[in-house]
Amino acid sequence: MRPIRAELSTTALLHNYALAKSKAPNSQVFAVVKANGYGHGLDWIARTLRDADAFATLEIESAIKLRNKGITQPILMLEGFFGNDEIPTFVRYHLTPVVREHEQIKAIADAELDAPLDIFLKFNTGMNRLGLQGPLTGFAINTAASHRNIGAVTLMTHFATADGELGIAAQLKKFEEIVNSAKPAFTKKRFTQSLANSAAILRFPETHRDWVRPGIMLYGSSPFAEKSAAELGLKPVMTLRSEIIATQTLAAGDTVGYGATYTAKKKMRIGIVGCGYADGYPRHAPGSNERGTPVLISGAHTRTIGRVSMDMLSVDLTEIPHAHVGAPVTLWGEGLSVDEVAKAAGTISYELFCGVTARVPMVEVE
Ligand SMILES: *Cc1c(COP(=O)(O)O)cnc(C)c1O
Repeated sequence: MRPIRAELSTTALLHNYALAKSKAPNSQVFAVVKANGYGHGLDWIARTLRDADAFATLEIESAIKLRNKGITQPILMLEGFFGNDEIPTFVRYHLTPVVREHEQIKAIADAELDAPLDIFLKFNTGMNRLGLQGPLTGFAINTAASHRNIGAVTLMTHFATADGELGIAAQLKKFEEIVNSAKPAFTKKRFTQSLANSAAILRFPETHRDWVRPGIMLYGSSPFAEKSAAELGLKPVMTLRSEIIATQTLAAGDTVGYGATYTAKKKMRIGIVGCGYADGYPRHAPGSNERGTPVLISGAHTRTIGRVSMDMLSVDLTEIPHAHVGAPVTLWGEGLSVDEVAKAAGTISYELFCGVTARVPMVEVE
């Protein structure tokens, strides 16, 4: 059997969830499981985190799947509904939409509903993707406070730079202004609040409020460029493993792989790993003479050599003489942070996780 597999650690996932909980002890935690649980498999994530306070996703099929699997906690739909005809489905499955357009509030108010809908009212405070802003926020807030079709209301925003130098100050200020302007409506209904993603949970306790929304930290990757997951106390959930399936000995001047982008400067030994871009390993991971991408072979650190091809990639085994065909390879995860690999490949862990393809078996481990 082809040796590639993604091992998923139950212990690590539960540990990271508990860490998110302990960082925001007075908040309820939405486990963010969009995009198939950041590529880890929605079923496994939901089964392992079945006692989470709540879940957040954005694909309606995923939300229905969670309900059919017996998840009864709140399910937040991070992009709400895309057409008003979806509103009855939200009511039927008791899903909580993010309401982000003035027309959406009107559509909920105008609908004939069997039961009121809990909503998250999203405000655009600077990310400039989704959310209400300007004079229309007042109408949305008042309708949310008083209309019979609307149940619990949470005021929400999303930070663009919680992980970086710019921080959250400007967006938080805008959010507070909106909350203050909405104060008169609070006499009719208590509104809760939700602001923090992983970076804000770890860095800005003042953003925790009623509900936090950790995604990437649950999967054991750091939201910060300058602070490692290990330093944050996070444990890798996914370890992408394979094996050496062949070795080659190169003479000085020999090249490796498509495009001959790596040239041996002296005699060297290389290994061929059963993993390529059709498994989700990034094709742009560098493997030139100047720069490689980190890989772990039999526990020893080495680097990729030449271009990543569809089903294979090559690694330098010159300093690992005991590594032969069958030697274990870690592409990322336990012992080699996904963040290091992502950085070398010019991307982020989120993209690597989401990119793992369907042909890679997912295997649960302790
Ligand atoms: C994806 C997402 C999150 C989780 O972000 P992380 O950086 O993975 O913690 C939180 N809130 C919203 C609105 C999201 O779309």
